[in-house]
Amino acid sequence: MRVDQNRIHSVSTNRGTIYPKIVVNAAGVFSDEIAKMANDRFFSIHPRKGTNTILDHKASRRMMTIVSSFGTSSTKKKHTKGGGLVKTIDDNTLVGPDAVETYCKEDFTTNAQNVWDVFEKQRLTDPALFVRDAITYFSGIRAATYEEDFVIQKGRRTRNLVHAAGIQSPGITAAPAIALDVSKMAAELLSESREVHRNPSFNPIHKGIIRMNELSLEHRDAMIHKNPDYGEIICRCEQISRGEVKDALHRSIPCDTLDGVKRRVRPGMGRCQGGFCGPLVLQIIAEETKKPFEEIEKSAPGGEILFGSIKEVRPE
Ligand SMILES: Cc1cc2nc3c(=O)[nH]c(=O)nc-3n(C[C@H](O)[C@H](O)[C@H](O)COP(=O)(O)OP(=O)(O)OC[C@H]3O[C@@H](n4cnc5c(N)ncnc54)[C@H](O)[C@@H]3O)c2cc1C
Repeated sequence: MRVDQNRIHSVSTNRGTIYPKIVVNAAGVFSDEIAKMANDRFFSIHPRKGTNTILDHKASRRMMTIVSSFGTSSTKKKHTKGGGLVKTIDDNTLVGPDAVETYCKEDFTTNAQNVWDVFEKQRLTDPALFVRDAITYFSGIRAATYEEDFVIQKGRRTRNLVHAAGIQSPGITAAPAIALDVSKMAAELLSESREVHRNPSFNPIHKGIIRMNELSLEHRDAMIHKNPDYGEIICRCEQISRGEVKDALHRSIPCDTLDGVKRRVRPGMGRCQGGFCGPLVLQIIAEETKKPFEEIEKSAPGGEILFGSIKEVRPE
C-alpha cells in the first residue's frame, strides 16, 4: 500500500495495482495488519478460536430454536453468550462454539477434547446430546480487539479509509447494520471531493436457487415436467437434484468447485458429508464447465481431487 499525504494512493494486489478513491478495511483477523499498511493502526487483533459441531437432521428434530445457558463458570465473560444450541435454517443443530485464545490467525485445527468439552457444557441444556449424532465439526477464528468491541470508523490519520475491523461475534447478525454505517461513512468521505449519488440501477434483491425439497409435490411435479434434471436426486442426504446443482453452476456469480456448489445448494452437507454425492457433483461440474476431471478443485488451486485414472489403457 502506498500512502501519500494521509491518503492511500495505491494498493498492490496479486491481480495488479489498484488506485482507490476509498479503501474499506474489512480484513477480519488481518484488519490490524491492513490498518498498519495504511498507516492508521490504532487497534490490535488477538485471535480467539471457536469450534462448532453440526448434528444430523434426525438428532435435530427436538430442537425448535436457539438456546444458551448462562451462569456457568465459562459463560461469565461479558463479550460472549458462551455458545449454545442453535437450530439452523437448514434443520440441523449447531453445538458450540467454545472460545480459546490462540496466537495463530489461521489455526483452523480441531481437537477431540474441545468437542467433548463443548458437548459436556451444552448437556446442561439438553441432556440427550450425543457426540455420535455429529456429522462434522470445524473451527473458526474470531477477530477480537483488546476492547472487545467492533472498530467501525473512518481512518484516524488516513483520510480515504474506513475500518470495519475487529468484527467478532455477533458480526453476522450485525452485518446489515455495519454495512449501512460503512456506506454512510464512505459516501461522506467521497463527497469531500465530488458529488455522490445513489446508483439507481443497483438491485439489492438476490433471488435464491429453487430448493426442490421445499416445494409442494404439485410444484415439484411441474418443475420435473419442464426439466427432468430436477427429478434426478444427486445428494440423497439433503435431497438435492441434478437441476439444482446445474443452477448453482450457471448463476450470475458462477462457481466451479465442489465447495462452491456445496455452499450454494448443499450437496455434501448431510450425513455422508459428500461420500456418495461428491463424485456425482464432480462429474456434473466437468460436464458443465468442460474442464477435465483432474482440474476440478475442492475449493481453491492446490485442492484438485483427482490425479488421473487408476487403470489406464496401455498404448499397444
Ligand atoms: C466460532 C465462531 C462463531 C461465531 N458465531 C457467531 C454467531 O453466532 N453470530 C454471529 O453473528 N457471528 C458469529 N461469529 C462471528 C462472525 O463469523 C464474524 O463476525 C464475521 O464473519 C466477520 O466478518 P468479516 O467480514 O469482518 O471478516 P471475515 O469473514 O473474516 O472476512 C475477512 C475477509 O478478508 C479477507 N482478507 C484478509 N486479509 C486480506 C488481504 N490481505 N487481502 C485480501 N483479502 C484479505 C479474508 O480472506 C476474508 O475473506 C462467529 C465467529 C466464529 C469464529
